Amino acid sequence: MKLRSVHWLAVAGIVSTLAACSREAPPAETATVPAVAETVAPAPAPPAPAPDVEWPKHGLNQAETRFSPLADINDGNVDKLGLAWYFDYPTARGLEATPLVIDGVIYTSGSWSMVYANNAVTGELLWFYDPQVPRNWAVHGCCDVVNRGVAYDQGRLFFGTYDGRLVSLNAADGSLRWEVQTTDKERPYTITGAPRIVKDKVIIGNGGGEFGVRGYVTAYALDDGAQAWRFYTVPGNPADGFESDAMKKAAETWGGGEWWVVGGGGTVWDSMAYDPELNLLYLGVGNGAPWNRQIRSPDGGDNLYLSSILALNPDDGSYVWHYQTTPGETWDYTATQHMILADLELDGKPRKVIMQAPKNGFFYVLDRATGELLSADAYATITWATHVDMETGRPVETEGARYEGKATGLHFPGPIGGHNWHPMSYNPDTGLVYIPAQDAPWVYATDENFRHRKGYWNTGTDNRPASLPDDPVEKQAVLDTVTGAIIAWDPVAQQPRWRVEHEGPWNGGILSTAGNLVFQGNSSGELVAYRADTGERLWVFDAQTGVVAPPVVFRQAGNQYLAVVAGWGGSLALVGGEALTAGPIPNRSRLLVFKLDGKAELPPAVDKRLVIDPPELTASAEQVMAGRKEYLTYCVYCHGDGAVSGGATPDLRALTPEKHAMWDAIVLGGMHWQNGMVGFGGELDKEQSDNIHYYVIERAHFSLAESAAEASGEAKEEGAGD
Ligand code: CA
Repeated sequence: MKLRSVHWLAVAGIVSTLAACSREAPPAETATVPAVAETVAPAPAPPAPAPDVEWPKHGLNQAETRFSPLADINDGNVDKLGLAWYFDYPTARGLEATPLVIDGVIYTSGSWSMVYANNAVTGELLWFYDPQVPRNWAVHGCCDVVNRGVAYDQGRLFFGTYDGRLVSLNAADGSLRWEVQTTDKERPYTITGAPRIVKDKVIIGNGGGEFGVRGYVTAYALDDGAQAWRFYTVPGNPADGFESDAMKKAAETWGGGEWWVVGGGGTVWDSMAYDPELNLLYLGVGNGAPWNRQIRSPDGGDNLYLSSILALNPDDGSYVWHYQTTPGETWDYTATQHMILADLELDGKPRKVIMQAPKNGFFYVLDRATGELLSADAYATITWATHVDMETGRPVETEGARYEGKATGLHFPGPIGGHNWHPMSYNPDTGLVYIPAQDAPWVYATDENFRHRKGYWNTGTDNRPASLPDDPVEKQAVLDTVTGAIIAWDPVAQQPRWRVEHEGPWNGGILSTAGNLVFQGNSSGELVAYRADTGERLWVFDAQTGVVAPPVVFRQAGNQYLAVVAGWGGSLALVGGEALTAGPIPNRSRLLVFKLDGKAELPPAVDKRLVIDPPELTASAEQVMAGRKEYLTYCVYCHGDGAVSGGATPDLRALTPEKHAMWDAIVLGGMHWQNGMVGFGGELDKEQSDNIHYYVIERAHFSLAESAAEASGEAKEEGAGD
């Protein structure tokens, strides 16, 4: 309740100022006033509004706590929270940004790396900036054309673009200051993460680990965008020499393959944090490229610095320490998840820690000065390891967890992780870290015919065993294991204190406040407030869309506001299909801003029901199965498992007769490249494209038959009940 006390101190300050004024009134006027007048209250003056409180940095502060000391909105009045205003974005793809709020302006970034500035109180659009990302670059990204936010410093904004640029704008009017290309355009690099600012530099990473890139971060001068340093996270071809000692040491942990051809991976695509006292910059490092270590580094090895937390000196980008969460990464177990710096008392001693819940399912607490492992405990369902050995600091893997030779069974966590990019929050009042967690398994298998497909997905996995089975009982058994939850994790006791279940995975980032509140949007289209100490559900708003981005709060002109970028998207919204157990989720792209007694209303939601009316299937079963293999290699990542869309891209089962007639022009020719659907004519031949078409038509017929069977089953059940 820090801010409550600040607030009352401010009020006390105002009162004493007024009293001082009355004492200093001109003597001529006070001469006839009796002495008691001094104790009479002065004429009621409007109370000065409480000071403005901004949200100036991505994680609120450099420790990235996402805990706001604001408590004007609290567990006693949150039921009065209402919509103050909303702003419709002109795009219909995923939104994941954390808004920044500075000097009465909300800065957000949206699909295709566009940046918006809105008046924080009225919602008026002040300016917007479109960096003109070429739409055909969408094929080079794993997880939707999203952007997680901008960085701000002294009137200047900084953000990354999907095609690998770092751009600086004047915050006042959105005019361009400078831009630099931070990536090699010959490689499928993308940027979706927010830059961070450390002293006079802006730090930016990149993505592309699924496709084939070598990860690195780069520091640029705030003033003119001049490059200050670059740190690679994985070694290149040893024959070319090494950029640093850190790379030389890392190369000793790779062997037998030509990882540099695909790239090696290790991208820093989201999380960073900075400790100014220790002068350490922390980076969360991603998965291997390809995922499959057997292909990437057939002699084995830890493959540093994949899946690691790295600490660098931000002045020159030199290595200080690392901790690797998943040695020999092979399951897309990134350690790019949100990292939080905090001071905890552990075993009676104060410790400066860094905390992370990476994809691999363990919650880590490290000493952030040295990288020493302090604790590691399962927060999600884990089948790949039994525990982390505290002596060695290494996970103890289970038999068969590596898919070398044969496919795994249902393996937890799958590639979307026990926790993905959705930010957590650390609340020092409750001592809890709130994790937007999930369980979603996967079946890992090696692609025996792997070849490097330049510019496309290169995971080295055969995705067929992971596709949901058609048999309704088998399918339901898998879907029953897919869940989402808020886990209120006590990092000192190393266990959850409370847990709230969701209908499905892929729920929003989290905010907590000194008002004893936790806010989160979810995949069921709600924005919800919970009590921070107990998880009790206190308030809900129908957002009409899935919400994945994290909310923020700020105070402007005396009112506290809650703001969130609402809109459905991101990797699971593309690939998820029926694994999105919260049901079909529409995307409506909006900035929603709330205050106590807000009275604005959203327009009624339009129901966009799918019309599935496929043409006759004329192909053989062999052609359909051949199409399935190609679909699961090229198409699944955007159009969903089983051709069931997650909501962010068109559902191919519902193609119109006109679209079916244009199949070749779209799939091979690239007719819809301006929507991000490039032509695959350079990679697929006509027969492969036809087979994919047959598979999509077969899936449409399958869905109709499945719905009919479900309807007749329900009718029978009703009949039985009569
Ligand atoms: Ca990945």
